[in-house]
Amino acid sequence: MKKLAAGNWKMNGTKASLAEVAALLSAHGQPACEMLLCPPATLIAAMAEAAQGTALKVGAQDCHPKPQGAHTGDISAAILKDAGASHVILGHSERRTDHGETDDLVRAKAEAVVDAGLVAIVCIGETEAERDAGKTLAVIGTQLDGSIPMGATAANLVVAYEPVWAIGTGRTPTLSEIAEVHSFLRGRLRGLIGDEAETVRILYGGSVKPSNAVEIFAVPHVDGALVGGASLKAVDFGAIVEALSAA
Ligand code: PEP
Repeated sequence: MKKLAAGNWKMNGTKASLAEVAALLSAHGQPACEMLLCPPATLIAAMAEAAQGTALKVGAQDCHPKPQGAHTGDISAAILKDAGASHVILGHSERRTDHGETDDLVRAKAEAVVDAGLVAIVCIGETEAERDAGKTLAVIGTQLDGSIPMGATAANLVVAYEPVWAIGTGRTPTLSEIAEVHSFLRGRLRGLIGDEAETVRILYGGSVKPSNAVEIFAVPHVDGALVGGASLKAVDFGAIVEALSAA
């Protein structure tokens, strides 16, 4: 299975930011891993055009569960595909918190993504209070069960484990905490989708940066990263892509 370095630009980026894409492609045009950037929806088409014929794939950060209709301000998976997206991040903790997204809604969106022929990157993760209460595995197990799409395969699903307290904070779990969760998720996925689970990419996300990427990518069942802040700069994201390519 090819590992995946995925960048989430969140609500950052204008046309001028495409210079970072050019810089990334000129320095890291042929990585051994898969490379994906998920900019704001307004930049998907332009980034997809800049990425045409290169190893870079372009994704979105959310979508509506319906294919089209009267939903002002929303974007469907089919529309994202038309703009050039190949992947959609779903259930990011910022969407679960800011927009009250539930597992049911995340699963409906993931099914819409799969129906449109795109790859769903389903995010799950515990809060600090849940970890402190010893509930991490129970919480992420429930999120996984409730959020992945029907008919999930290694080709249409990526799972991202992102402890909420590690996102944008500079803090990360210990390597053994990451190992515990990723191995638990592999087993849980096996129970849900059988042998197909062996090749579903399970990404770690939460304050991944060039200085910690090598050690995180050496953890068993870490098949890549979902990177926020460090994906905004080509030099940092490129270093993470290289670390993953060498892992
Ligand atoms: C994220 O938002 O998915 C994320 C992991 O952010 P950061 O890398 O900035 O912690």
